[in-house]
Amino acid sequence: MHIIVLLLVTTFFLVLSALFLVECVREKEQRGTKIATAALVVFLAMIPIILWIPGLHPFVDLLLAILFLGSLLLFIPARPDKRALAGTVAHTEGIVERVDERDAVFARLRLKPDNEPYYRRYYDDRPDQEEADAKRRAKGLLGSLGSIDGSYQPLNAMVHAAFDIPDILGTKADSPPVEGEECRQWDPAQATDWVKNFARHIGADMVGICKVNPLWVYARRGEIHYSNWQDWGKELDNFPSYAVVMLTEMNWDHVSAAPHSPSVAESAHDYGKGAYLSTLMGRWFAHMGYRGVAQNTRNYDTLLVPLAVDAGLGEVGRQGYLIAPKYGARVRIFATLTDMELLPDNPASLGIDEFCQRCKKCSDTCPSQSIPSGDKTTVNGIHRWKLDEDSCFDYWSKVGTDCSICMAVCPFSRPDTFSHKLVRFLLCKSLIARRWFPLIDNFIYGKRWRPRPVPSWLDYPRKNKLKSEHY
Ligand code: SF4
Ligand code: SF4
Repeated sequence: MHIIVLLLVTTFFLVLSALFLVECVREKEQRGTKIATAALVVFLAMIPIILWIPGLHPFVDLLLAILFLGSLLLFIPARPDKRALAGTVAHTEGIVERVDERDAVFARLRLKPDNEPYYRRYYDDRPDQEEADAKRRAKGLLGSLGSIDGSYQPLNAMVHAAFDIPDILGTKADSPPVEGEECRQWDPAQATDWVKNFARHIGADMVGICKVNPLWVYARRGEIHYSNWQDWGKELDNFPSYAVVMLTEMNWDHVSAAPHSPSVAESAHDYGKGAYLSTLMGRWFAHMGYRGVAQNTRNYDTLLVPLAVDAGLGEVGRQGYLIAPKYGARVRIFATLTDMELLPDNPASLGIDEFCQRCKKCSDTCPSQSIPSGDKTTVNGIHRWKLDEDSCFDYWSKVGTDCSICMAVCPFSRPDTFSHKLVRFLLCKSLIARRWFPLIDNFIYGKRWRPRPVPSWLDYPRKNKLKSEHY
């Protein structure tokens, strides 16, 4: 009986090791592959020991007992994170000023010296920023696109092509009700069902709904894309009450090349997809007799990360990205605002906050040290980890991409395979998983980031960088 139990438990861990090895090979995880191979060899070696060397059984008993008890401890449940379940309001302390879009770096860089009187009006109020912005404007936000890879034309063209889509659709972002369409009061549950299924049908990977908290609406318009400078500084007060928030998954093969050009090609691709999704959803509302306002790279009225949190699509990580179930930080967020009455979702608790307190992988690996490694602080009434955006964008212009290392290195961003699914599930439920897994993750995958090789069609001139690059 003793031998049968030992064989069964060993076989269980043997199968897990084999599955994990296959996943590590597929994900090009060199260190993980070595560790999974070592585990597989150990469990394979244990079978003849169990069958034919009884003198070594005490060692087998001890090893399996440790593994078994360790697994049992994972069943100690985590306390629900009440702050996460309460959504973004639980992270506010004191007065929160609505963000002025004119202060966003993207808006500042569009404000050229010949945009008068707007340029002077802005920098007369913020004279300390003028010189630094002028330097950044001269370099461009991404410097020379793809410079880290010699500005490789096929990948740069993917970026430009993808951004052509929001450029084309941006003028249609705010869709008023189509004339002649009746604006009916639908049952909110029925309307929500249409909206969510339609969003998934047209290509959203996740969709959630929230009421729009005015705190997350920009106070004033700052980004001008179509020479409509008369809108610069306009107060944004006429916004619809509901947000349909949609996520698109960013492809792991692309993201895992960060900070090289495939990662920025994927970001751009998602901006193209998001413009399509949010505009199409807006047109659907317009044909239902309601206003639909697309939120994408050519028209932001709102801050999308807090909307996504309130719509139950994830929590915010140390690096400031939304971390979603299944995809981690490997998502882009888009939304469509409407007045059609819908059923809001509840915010989610995924264990991110507790995990991030111990993990710090993004902070340790960020090449510009832009991510805080300490505790959260309160900035503009919001308790959070505050990224240093200026140093982050300086790094973007150095490499000519949007970097994305902090997205790629995050343990939650790994592909949605069996072992990562299991880990995410345990992180939601298990107290011990939240405490141990940051250490286990570092042990298996290493603490620092190393860009992964990409499929041959995505390859770029690497100049042997893959061998030496370690962030
Ligand atoms: S994008 Fe790169 S530079 Fe910016 S915070 Fe993330 S890792 Fe740091
Ligand atoms: S890398 Fe770690 S600390 Fe950073 S966001 Fe991801 S889980 Fe949190």
